[in-house]
Amino acid sequence: MNELFRIGETVISTLNENGFEAYFVGGCVRDYYMDRQVHDVDITTDAKPDEIEALFEKTIDVGKAHGTIIVLVQNIPFEVTTYRADGEHGVRLLDEDLKRRDFTMNAMAMSQNMIFYDPFSGRDAIEKKEIITVGEPDERFEEDPLRIIRAIRFMSVLKFSIELSTEKSMMKNVHTVEYISVERIVGELKKTYAGDGLKHAKKKLVQAGLKAFIPFLKHIGHDEYLHSHAEDFMDELIIHSVKNDGLTARLKDLKLSNAEIELVKSSRSLLQAVAEDVHPREIAYQYHEDVIRRLIRLNQYNELIEDVSALDSALALQPSLIIRSKKDLDINGRHLMNLYDQKSGPWIKECLNIIENEVLFERLNNNHDDIIKWVKKHVEFGPESI
Ligand code: ATP
Ligand code: MG
Repeated sequence: MNELFRIGETVISTLNENGFEAYFVGGCVRDYYMDRQVHDVDITTDAKPDEIEALFEKTIDVGKAHGTIIVLVQNIPFEVTTYRADGEHGVRLLDEDLKRRDFTMNAMAMSQNMIFYDPFSGRDAIEKKEIITVGEPDERFEEDPLRIIRAIRFMSVLKFSIELSTEKSMMKNVHTVEYISVERIVGELKKTYAGDGLKHAKKKLVQAGLKAFIPFLKHIGHDEYLHSHAEDFMDELIIHSVKNDGLTARLKDLKLSNAEIELVKSSRSLLQAVAEDVHPREIAYQYHEDVIRRLIRLNQYNELIEDVSALDSALALQPSLIIRSKKDLDINGRHLMNLYDQKSGPWIKECLNIIENEVLFERLNNNHDDIIKWVKKHVEFGPESI
């Protein structure tokens, strides 16, 4: 059995021995039943956050207000959550918790000896490969419209179809997706893009009219969207951004991380560099190999540039580059200031740029004395000439 469950069992038995109910719940139970790789194990319990904290040596408070404590056992994190229920009063019950989950396949619990508790026939839905809301679809989608996108996500990841009344309700409620935070949407989209059923999921996004309510995606034409070949969400953003300035401006609507924005920008500028016949050595120096590789891969099916040979050459050159950045130069601004006995200023940058280029193209050794000698001989301008 999966190591995660084996260790998770000890968390459950500790809770049980102290008089609390506790079960494996949600995605891990679904994946266990489906024989899929289980990557994290969630536990649901009637113990309150303070009671959970008191029972375990290592815990992290990740959202006490929402009833969630992380319990660390052998450095593995287990998300232990108090049964969800309406309001704060009243008895908290497993059934109440399961009732609040999104789809029947995600609303199963399992005891520590792997006995299923499945009041909404989640296993049946799994056998039929169907995504079905727990309870009235309209109510459930109105309550949290993110579930509409989650349905698409599971379509892609599990290659399931959406049950008819669930789908009808999704269609009816698509516009409500506008009210959910973009961070939550993007989180689900990233998972959608990692699924094997992405093609179908994208079709469904368009067909259900959902795409029109998703930031950035709503500005891409249906055909362009359906015909792009993206292996992850960043691919999709890059494919459309490199072709279209207007779209790039809309990237900010997705509230991506700086690194993600940098990746798109860098891809755009790389494509530009290729179009402008920038020397492969320059490309190798300016761009991260991951960005170059990604563009080569994307170009196989997306026709972004005519000729990738400059990118291939750049990749081949990269391991043997003498310097990776200005910092690798065996000279710095201070040395130049001493050499000319001058104050700092823009001239330093210009001078370093020239040296950098000479070293990059191997016309000058990256050796302090050689560089000084070279500067004295070739750099006509003193600081005052700039
Ligand atoms: P994954 O394998 O990607 O982690 P998962 O099913 O565990 O899939 P999570 O987003 O981690 O999905 O959520 C864990 C569980 O919490 C779900 O299985 C479901 O029971 C419940 N859940 C998550 N999001 C919602 C939601 N928006 N509405 C209702 N229940 C939800
Ligand atoms: Mg999960």
